[in-house]
Amino acid sequence: MKLKQVILRHLQMELKSPFTTSFGSFSTKDFILVEAIDEDGVSGWGESVAFHSPWYNEETVKTNWHMLEDFLLPLIFKAPIEHPDELNERFSFIRKNNMAKSAIEGAIWDLFAKKQNIPLSKALGGEKKEIGVGISIGIQKSIDDLLRIIEKYVTEGYRRIKVKIKPGWDIEVIREIRKHFSDILLMGDANSAYTLQDIERLKALDEFNLMMIEQPLASDDIVDHATLQAQLQTPICLDESIHSYEDARKAIQLGSCKIINIKIGRVGGLTEAKKIHDLCQKNNIPVWCGGMLEAGVGRAHNIAITTLENFTMPGDTAASSHYWERDIIIPEITVHNGMIVVPEGPGIGYEVDRRQVDLYTVFAKTYKA
Ligand SMILES: [Mg+2]
Repeated sequence: MKLKQVILRHLQMELKSPFTTSFGSFSTKDFILVEAIDEDGVSGWGESVAFHSPWYNEETVKTNWHMLEDFLLPLIFKAPIEHPDELNERFSFIRKNNMAKSAIEGAIWDLFAKKQNIPLSKALGGEKKEIGVGISIGIQKSIDDLLRIIEKYVTEGYRRIKVKIKPGWDIEVIREIRKHFSDILLMGDANSAYTLQDIERLKALDEFNLMMIEQPLASDDIVDHATLQAQLQTPICLDESIHSYEDARKAIQLGSCKIINIKIGRVGGLTEAKKIHDLCQKNNIPVWCGGMLEAGVGRAHNIAITTLENFTMPGDTAASSHYWERDIIIPEITVHNGMIVVPEGPGIGYEVDRRQVDLYTVFAKTYKA
């Protein structure tokens, strides 16, 4: 593949309901959409999952733009690309900035699959025809509110319910959920809200048969998680702590977790995500695909990676309509009885809706080889 030009677009889309983080509440999602166009005029699409502010990790929309413009795109234009797997090596002298790397790498993967005339899922080695998905629910004003929301999603058929937990919004909340929904697949995501001093509180959750507790301890830790996992029956799932194959290898070796949440952007792209998947499979560590409030292009990439065999647990990729009035792909992603049918068209398998993209674009710039 020889790239002719890359268009970066800064999009802003209104969320159906505000999203609350440690930086406050957001009603819009800002992100970069990457369009990589080769010399035959074929477009590959990628989406950066970096947020507007650095609450999830150190990257933001602006740092991603800088990395793409000043470092990553020049490397993309430098020489033809035989296979997207080469990019890992080509980008290797750039430390971290995984979401920026993943945004352009994802576009090249889509382009590669389109040039081969195969679905992206197949290009990655995935074989599933449909994937199971769950839903993630934020902290609510009251337990009653939370129970009502869970009821709605269980009725809609979502395969797994994930609730955010933190000290004080955990044992009682989970107990109430279990009282009403004794057999749903249920998990708690702590987003690093605990320390080892909370060990008794976390052990108290063991009686509720949770699928897992996600990232209970610090976002950069794998050592304390190993101490905690040794004392917990509930499996620990790592999210924020795993940025690479090497992180996953060390966490598995230490016994820091029994499950890993693979987010493509967090680990620097599809190639690294696949390597982590393969490593986990060898070590009997099931994986699932986490969500970052992606629009349609990012969601399509998540669906493609989830078709790999060891993604045995439902991921976070909900229907487009859960987040957006109107997504940027055609058709939009729909969920029926908790399942998404994997598209069979070439590349990501969805058409990018250029009209919607234009409506949401606040700034765009074209970079030529
Ligand atoms: Mg998480």
